[in-house]
Amino acid sequence: MSSDVEQDRPTPASGTDATERESRAVAEAARESDWSRPSFAKGLYLGHFDLDLVHPHPRATPEDQARGEEFLVRLREVCEGIDGAQIERDALIPDDVLARLADIGAFGMKIPREYGGLGLTMSAYGQALMLVGSAHPSLGALLSAHQSIGVPEPVKLVGTPEQKQAFLPRCAAGAISAFLLTEPDVGSDPARMGSTATPTEDGTAYLLDGVKLWTTNGVVAELLVVMARVPEHDGNGDHQQKGGITAFVVEGKAEGITVERRNSFMGLKGIENGLTRFHQVRVPAENRLGKEGDGLKIALTTLNAGRLSIPAMCAAAGKWALKISREWSAERVQWGRPVGEHGAVAGKIAFIAATTYGLESVLELSAQLADAGSKDIRIEAALAKLWASEMAWQIADELVQVRGGRGYETAESLRARGERAVPAEQMMRDLRINRIFEGSTEIMHLLIAREAVDAHLKAAGALADKDASLEAKARAAAGASGFYAKWLPQLVVGKGAAPTSYAEFGALATHLRFVERSSRKLARQTFYGMSRWQAKMEYRQAFLGRVVDIGAELFAIAAACSRAEMLRTDDEARGRSAYQLADVFCQQSRLRVERLFTDLWSNSDDADTRLAKGVLAGDYTWLEEGVLDQSEGTGPWIAPWSPGASESESVWRAVR
Ligand SMILES: Cc1cc2nc3c(=O)[nH]c(=O)nc-3n(C[C@H](O)[C@H](O)[C@H](O)COP(=O)(O)OP(=O)(O)OC[C@H]3O[C@@H](n4cnc5c(N)ncnc54)[C@H](O)[C@@H]3O)c2cc1C
Repeated sequence: MSSDVEQDRPTPASGTDATERESRAVAEAARESDWSRPSFAKGLYLGHFDLDLVHPHPRATPEDQARGEEFLVRLREVCEGIDGAQIERDALIPDDVLARLADIGAFGMKIPREYGGLGLTMSAYGQALMLVGSAHPSLGALLSAHQSIGVPEPVKLVGTPEQKQAFLPRCAAGAISAFLLTEPDVGSDPARMGSTATPTEDGTAYLLDGVKLWTTNGVVAELLVVMARVPEHDGNGDHQQKGGITAFVVEGKAEGITVERRNSFMGLKGIENGLTRFHQVRVPAENRLGKEGDGLKIALTTLNAGRLSIPAMCAAAGKWALKISREWSAERVQWGRPVGEHGAVAGKIAFIAATTYGLESVLELSAQLADAGSKDIRIEAALAKLWASEMAWQIADELVQVRGGRGYETAESLRARGERAVPAEQMMRDLRINRIFEGSTEIMHLLIAREAVDAHLKAAGALADKDASLEAKARAAAGASGFYAKWLPQLVVGKGAAPTSYAEFGALATHLRFVERSSRKLARQTFYGMSRWQAKMEYRQAFLGRVVDIGAELFAIAAACSRAEMLRTDDEARGRSAYQLADVFCQQSRLRVERLFTDLWSNSDDADTRLAKGVLAGDYTWLEEGVLDQSEGTGPWIAPWSPGASESESVWRAVR
């Protein structure tokens, strides 16, 4: 059971150069605090379930839809000619595949037509990523690193007209780009950033120094978006600039850049992911994106919709898992019946089918909302990334289980034995990274929780600030009581309590009523957490993680229902089928929500915290005895790097 064990972080280990406070300050400064457009998902955390914001389901205009479909036909032709098994075997995407993708404009899907791109909607882009990712997920990663986070998106969002002219047509024509934030010592915590961009005396350029790790596309990229810290300075030719983490567009072949390694991974075997060193790389001042110090904000804004690539890849994985589990489970007979007819396997098939429907619904709704442009979709996209990466991983696990020993066997080995080469284990390997990159699950929980509790933080003011004086806290308490006196009564009753609400949704109405009731309950529980822990709430990561996950499920239920109703209005038969899928999805999701609500207050969090502290202090090392550590002697945890020119030969690979 939960008690009030101190969950404050330990003080940072000696040698770190950014304190926890600084890390938080950097994250807070990068946060967009403006909420001028309505946000459906934010409302869910505040007890305001406003279905009108997502229903009727937004749709593409007929012209946009036609353009998207026409491109998907061409993309399908290219994809059907791609040998995914060969990419897996050679751990390389052949140059001719990249050339064919460039020829049909795949590198400019999201670039406006006036700059030579296709100007596709987010929704069509998602469908394209699903298709290309099903040829090989490395292709999806390449295209998405290029245009969801690489040069085109930030240039489109914050670039000057000159920057747009200079870079967008090149990117649309096939100049591959990459996004470079991570460093050996900078993963989830950009406050530690070591790369520097030093303004030249005359202010016409910056000199870039540093090492960037895990640069997807870095080995083949012609253009890079690089994040580096500009030291504080008084201003120069470019005046008024203040320093801080800043974004730059950099030519991949600029003098002083060395791609020192091509990294290899558990999955995504074809990605061209590098370790890139910068030594006194001269970057013209006109290549700076936005102002000095705006780099992280730009990265986050880019990710607002950019994060939807991962849900697209996850939905694609779900669709394929569904097809394989259906075909296999109907044919494989054990104990006198097809395995799919055994209850335990049937449950997995139902999970895969219902969750795939949920994944596509979340993707489709988020993408259509992004395209419509009238709503703020920051939280929806973040929830979609978080939820989809977790659920797709479970789908992969269930698919491997349904396939039995063949699920664990590689496609090559199956083929060599004369069986259908089904890469189920590959799907697991390829999906695993989605829970880590573009914001790990833990960091997504923190980011979304920050927004979920924002209203409380604003209301609580100094109460939620652990450094505030007692006097300030007393003043804040009075202010907070006023806010809660108005807000809490609104959470007592709502449409979800009336048995006839949302009747137009027929059998799904009950699920929407559940969402409405749960949204109010979620807001109340968050308030209880806030009153109980006040300034220490931010350290209650397990509690906050569950709050966020409940919101994600509620969003998914709403998306599933809204989409089913849209499909029903388009096509009665398809709609009936969608209603069935949505109904089972909602039932499964509701069970997860109920479990999460229970776990909010009945959990082993405090015991876990104590145990983890003990583990870190070495109290239980006896438990590790009796096995070998194969990693011993292979070097430090984090490779030390020093500024200076590289001694390695660049492994940069020119393509096309
Ligand atoms: C295949 C691949 C491709 C990549 N592509 C790119 C790319 O193109 N560009 C780029 O810039 N980066 C890229 N990355 C880097 C990726 O974004 C990072 O791996 C990710 O941000 C996590 O950072 P880290 O690995 O250093 O983990 P760390 O930050 O060291 O975190 C370790 C663990 O601690 C958790 N954690 C950290 N801080 C907190 C906290 N405050 N609270 C709770 N938990 C916490 C993390 O979630 C994680 O579980 C790529 C990585 C891989 C493996």
